[in-house]
Amino acid sequence: MTFEELVRLELYVGAVLFGAVVGSFLNVCIWRIPRRESIVTPRSRCPACGAAIPWYLNIPVVSWFVLRGRCAECAAAISWRYPFVEALNAALWLLVAWRFGLSVQTFLLLPFVSAMIVLFFTDWDHQILPDRVTWPLGALGLLVAPWNPALDLAPGWFGGGTPLTRIGSAIAGAGLGYGIFFFLALAWRVLFDRDALGGGDLKMMVGVGAFTGVPGVVVTIMTASVVGSLGAAPFLLTGRWDMTRELPFGCFLAPAAVLAALWGDAFVRWYLGLLWM
Ligand SMILES: [Zn+2]
Repeated sequence: MTFEELVRLELYVGAVLFGAVVGSFLNVCIWRIPRRESIVTPRSRCPACGAAIPWYLNIPVVSWFVLRGRCAECAAAISWRYPFVEALNAALWLLVAWRFGLSVQTFLLLPFVSAMIVLFFTDWDHQILPDRVTWPLGALGLLVAPWNPALDLAPGWFGGGTPLTRIGSAIAGAGLGYGIFFFLALAWRVLFDRDALGGGDLKMMVGVGAFTGVPGVVVTIMTASVVGSLGAAPFLLTGRWDMTRELPFGCFLAPAAVLAALWGDAFVRWYLGLLWM
């Protein structure tokens, strides 16, 4: 095994282990942030009996299987969602590490994909994309923009990746994400006299744009629309859902944004190649 391969292997192992630990924290965020509770204190407790969970029963994924999905104190069932979110974050962190290796981009994308997991589940559970997640994500994206190589997607147009072009690209992406959803929300209001999009979608797209730039926003929205229409069509056709209800659009945006962050550049190159063949 070469030194390069050893570094890669360590990166993968680290991504999985730390990813699972952070995934455990994401569960706390998903549960507490929409309820406006502190994500720092108190320690994790059983939602049924309130017993504090000792550290040795709070090992990501493993503990849930050892306890067979039951609280050690009161034997109340613990949702499979907890180990699932932990495993999902570990898997996405591994995917990022595999895609971008030991690079700045990997470390910038780890918090990004974790934020997408939190937003997916808070939107799924409560139709909420909390400000406590969306605003810090946008702020972080703009803050790290000078070091973010994902913002150099069209170096030929902007003269390559300097810190300044990257900041410009992040601001353009954030503005476009916000702008598109602002007009979508406005159009929906005029057409259906209802609020189809919560303000959370706009703020979420600020973060997506700040991390992935204009091409990332475009790829995210295109992917989310396709997935969204395929997913919503059966409900619409059978009349179980009508166009006037608020869409949990964050559930489509979050996985689409992860795809855009991981393979957006490949998609853009393929698409531009089709146009200019
Ligand atoms: Zn319990």
